[in-house]
Amino acid sequence: MNTGAICVIRVLSELKMKYYSTKNKNYKVSFRDAVLTGISPDGGLFMPEEISEFDANFFKNISELSLKEIAFGVSEKLFGSDIKTSDLEKIVNASITFDAPLVQISCNINVLELFHGPTLAFKDFGARFMANTISYLNRNSDKEVNILVATSGDTGSAVANGFYKVDGINVILLYPSEKVSKIQEQQLTTLGENITALEILGTFDDCQALVKKAFADQELNSKMTLSSANSINIARLLPQSFYYFNAFARVKDKNLPTVISVPSGNFGNLTAGLIAKKMGLPVKKFIAATNSNDVFTKYIDTSVFQSKPSVKTLSNAMDVGNPSNFVRILDLYNHDHQRIKKDIYSRSFSDEETVQAIKEVYSNYNYLIDPHGAVGFLALKDYVAETANKNINGVVVETAHHSKFAEIVENVLNIKVEIPERLAKCLTKEKQSIKISKHYNDFREFLLNTK
Ligand SMILES: *Cc1c(COP(=O)(O)O)cnc(C)c1O
Repeated sequence: MNTGAICVIRVLSELKMKYYSTKNKNYKVSFRDAVLTGISPDGGLFMPEEISEFDANFFKNISELSLKEIAFGVSEKLFGSDIKTSDLEKIVNASITFDAPLVQISCNINVLELFHGPTLAFKDFGARFMANTISYLNRNSDKEVNILVATSGDTGSAVANGFYKVDGINVILLYPSEKVSKIQEQQLTTLGENITALEILGTFDDCQALVKKAFADQELNSKMTLSSANSINIARLLPQSFYYFNAFARVKDKNLPTVISVPSGNFGNLTAGLIAKKMGLPVKKFIAATNSNDVFTKYIDTSVFQSKPSVKTLSNAMDVGNPSNFVRILDLYNHDHQRIKKDIYSRSFSDEETVQAIKEVYSNYNYLIDPHGAVGFLALKDYVAETANKNINGVVVETAHHSKFAEIVENVLNIKVEIPERLAKCLTKEKQSIKISKHYNDFREFLLNTK
């Protein structure tokens, strides 16, 4: 090879985006490595080295673009140096197969409905994009990738659905036997095809320990390709920024300040919103809405972050005592509490308040909101009251369809909730799971027999 060619290769590789670890900005990896390894070896989370801004023209015409077109524009900015345009288009088309409508329920409250995907929760966006990205990154390999996912319910079904029938990929779900809800179990065990559900005779912690052990098992890894698909993967995080752009595209009066309330647990959803803001999205304020698991709200109030054991609430997908993406938020703002506080308002609410909010939204606006969205609604309401600014585009991010929490909603409102067809369908299908013990040797043997 002549030196000219080497030089060209150097320049090209420098153009590609690097991802650094939140624990060490000098530790940088390629997009491919960041996606396939998921977490940095030092325990840090990956962040894109550069988050570049759109020029103002993009926002002038944004309301004429569809969600898919917006997703494509945003993903080109984020992933354009690593995935060529035609491939990126394929990934977006395969992932964003449902809408994220903004429904206006009052003059200054809109609901951003993120539950129109196959598992009725916002995690479908990131999970599907990640699945198609991993399949793309593995396209030239003749080895199948085995994705191991330990799940206590919802994450597993979003991930499994995202990978469903995706080429070159097997998904092995581990869930604790008799410790997930009936609906959740049906969602996990009725897909078939390239998805296998392992019913572990143990707890969620046992499931997680088995997955960890498998990743650390060198001999096993030399025999088969194992990969994780957890919520901290950047290919899952970054696509969650698409729908914030979509929310802005749909608000009626773009001259009013836009304020977006995000029901938060691990804070991946909110972090994606903050990244959208960094890309130039004109959002005046993000609101971190929390339930009694309020460590982030306390951090905003006091500048002290103190993790604590999670407590059980009605909005259980937010029951997190040590949010994994907190380090990403610190990183985005250079650990500057004042700057974080300027962009993010935060409030936490009890279960009693959540129940009241479900009632209020139903009786005042004739809208069925789920317990997570209800917490988001309360935080937006507090913001409006405290700032005495009614002239805003308030947006409540509705993270799940209310029928996923039918029992709660039916009890609170004394009504019968209709289950959407895509959920009802899986409730009638036959459960297919393989029961195994919580002992590593049994799990290992199972894996070796699947390849
Ligand atoms: C996962 C989840 C959340 C919390 O999202 P984070 O990104 O972890 O903050 C909120 N609501 C629902 C319904 C969820 O499934």
